[in-house]
Amino acid sequence: MAGTSLQRLSLKFLKTRHNRFVARHASKAIFNWEDPLNLESQLNEEEILLKDTFRAYCQEKLLPRVLEGNRHEVFDRKIMNEMGELGVFGCTLKGFGCSGASNVTYGLLAREAERVDSSYRSALSVQSSLVMTPIYLFGSEEQKNDYLPKLAKGELVGCFGLTEPNHGSDIGAMESNISYSKEEKSLVLNGAKTWITNAPIADAFVIWARHVEDKRIKGVVLRRDSPGLRTSKIQGKFSLRASETGMIFMDNVKISEDQILPKALGLSAPFTCLTSARLGIAWGAMGAAESCLAAARQYTMERQQFKKPLAANQLMQKKMADMMTEIALGLQSCLHVSRLKDDDLLVPEMVSLLKRNNCGKALEIARVARDMLGANGISDEYNIIRHMMNLEAVNTYEGTHDIHSLILGRAITGLNAFV
Ligand SMILES: Cc1cc2nc3c(=O)[nH]c(=O)nc-3n(C[C@H](O)[C@H](O)[C@H](O)COP(=O)(O)OP(=O)(O)OC[C@H]3O[C@@H](n4cnc5c(N)ncnc54)[C@H](O)[C@@H]3O)c2cc1C
Repeated sequence: MAGTSLQRLSLKFLKTRHNRFVARHASKAIFNWEDPLNLESQLNEEEILLKDTFRAYCQEKLLPRVLEGNRHEVFDRKIMNEMGELGVFGCTLKGFGCSGASNVTYGLLAREAERVDSSYRSALSVQSSLVMTPIYLFGSEEQKNDYLPKLAKGELVGCFGLTEPNHGSDIGAMESNISYSKEEKSLVLNGAKTWITNAPIADAFVIWARHVEDKRIKGVVLRRDSPGLRTSKIQGKFSLRASETGMIFMDNVKISEDQILPKALGLSAPFTCLTSARLGIAWGAMGAAESCLAAARQYTMERQQFKKPLAANQLMQKKMADMMTEIALGLQSCLHVSRLKDDDLLVPEMVSLLKRNNCGKALEIARVARDMLGANGISDEYNIIRHMMNLEAVNTYEGTHDIHSLILGRAITGLNAFV
């Protein structure tokens, strides 16, 4: 009986919510190719306000910089201060200068940044999910107070060192280590990390290494001026060119116990941060795809071949219908999973599904959109080729497309293909 009345109550609640929604939107319901499933109607006022404010910033301040940044492999450090002023770093965290916004907000911001360029979304993701989140979740009060307010403002730039020259997908076999040095009379950190976003410009380093004593993977927070720590820049990338990527070398870097994140015990700690970042990537990839669709649509509407706009051809329209469909479904599932995260109902496999699907779909959309522009499609002035090249890296980092297949395959079969 209790179940029945509960069901009635929740039905009543849903009906009221539905009626309110219908009243608000019915009279003006029209199809919008830029928001085909009316995602906007599912956001609250705060989410819409933050999204629109950040969108204006991205379009007005980031878009004009990206062509040169991408051509010359330059990331403008001032962007970190500007984003810090807007309060977007660590926006889901509470306190320490962070706004405690929803996970949906974080996703919406990632989408807006990546609509311009995956490099800018990478900067946002790394600072928020991979640097601030581990300090917030696993750090001491002192570590949080020392780092979080400055990271939130963009006064400090952080980086996340997990991948190593010999260990990418199989990161559990990492060689970086923490040990006690009798000569130094101190704990020391040794090893090398590679393909680390922001390493060349970072002030704060979250480094993952195995403690030789208990064999557990621990997180260590370092400052750039730590003796024995050195970084280099990886040159000649043809993807994420407006992002600084580099190596980190640690040669007997002296550390104290209070630089180790006390609550990070094992590989699950960096994986928790990666789950957060991957959800942002799933949103962001859709932003890049939306940008490609918009550019291909505009171009084919204007370009005349065989005495009519290219967009008037069935082949072109099918391509655009496919793109719009994948984007709408991708965004809708991001919204759903982010709401689950807000309700503490998220499991990492959901994020693997989204990261894998949305990156793969966005890459495919970018390749098709590139083709729709013919020769101009390979010119960076039309933006699509830049998105296409970026999405190659986005498809690879934070768990490659195939690694997420293995995570999902393990969940489906119970059989572990990693060993
Ligand atoms: C631009 C950029 C920025 C990055 N930023 C960061 C960062 O900030 N911090 C950080 O720690 N890392 C970062 N990375 C590293 C990234 O996470 C790794 O590149 C990624 O995890 C893959 O590792 P790998 O490159 O060593 O490839 P590998 O692990 O060597 O994989 C090579 C290929 O083999 C496949 N493969 C691997 N194992 C299997 C298997 N068991 N079965 C079938 N196929 C398999 C992979 O899918 C892939 O196609 C960044 C990478 C890039 C490109």
